[in-house]
Amino acid sequence: MKCKKCGKKAVANLRAYRISLCADCYVEFYKRLVERSIKKYKILSKEEQILLAVSGGKDSSAMASVLKEIGFEFEMLYIDLGIGDYSRDSKQKVEELSDLLKVRLNIVELKDYGFTIPQARGRVCSVCGTAKRYIMNRFARENGFDVVATGHTAEDIASFYLKNIAGNQQAFAEKLLPRIEPFDAKVVARARPLFEISEKENMLYAILKKLPFKSGECLYAPKPDWKEIVYDIELKKPGFVKNFVRGLTVEVKKPSETRYCSICGEIASGDICSFCKIRSKFSKSF
Ligand code: SF4
Ligand code: ZN
Repeated sequence: MKCKKCGKKAVANLRAYRISLCADCYVEFYKRLVERSIKKYKILSKEEQILLAVSGGKDSSAMASVLKEIGFEFEMLYIDLGIGDYSRDSKQKVEELSDLLKVRLNIVELKDYGFTIPQARGRVCSVCGTAKRYIMNRFARENGFDVVATGHTAEDIASFYLKNIAGNQQAFAEKLLPRIEPFDAKVVARARPLFEISEKENMLYAILKKLPFKSGECLYAPKPDWKEIVYDIELKKPGFVKNFVRGLTVEVKKPSETRYCSICGEIASGDICSFCKIRSKFSKSF
């Protein structure tokens, strides 16, 4: 198999694009893909202060590296969730990435808010999601960032969308756009620069660029049922995932009335925000 661009030995056969590429041409191809996507959907601008949420996994490592290559300036944020070896190893990878890219790394420890993820027993991922969203938004706003970028992939978005549509949860489905503008001064814009990039594409880029990343899932990761459905369709219909996420054109409705948490002052849907409700369960002095 030869590279379609330069004729050297190909390392990747990208079925969604019907093209085989060598290592150098693949790295360039990937960079162009992300750059085109960012321009087309106005996901990020070089004029804004960008905070990248990084987990230590392949997707966020690839995101940080490619954004640097494209010429974006940013800082990174790692949230230490306190999940034993997993958090320790992930933090180490993120620190290596920060050294490699020469990008400032900020670290927030969830334990400073009074609890860690393993204490959330039973509702671990739901508590974790609430905590990460809360900390990302608050850290970004309090430190003068305009936008928080996360490494969600096309498969993340397609599987999350299908799961929520199947459960008739359209309110969640709205959250899966390439960029969401803030509806209130307390909310920072959210961006997903890898919105139409697949996990395999990120993995290959991360390997070819020799980026530090942690392989292996968090021990609390749920069974990837919906993702497996997405992988199956992609296998039978190459290009499905990209076309699917490109077709998501839901409009994000502003809440009719914005409310603020009576404890921390952040956005809330009731009197107390979901994060403070969680914290109150873990801290008697709260
Ligand atoms: Fe958090 Fe669940 Fe992801 Fe682990 S799998 S990092 S607990 S959301
Ligand atoms: Zn609160």
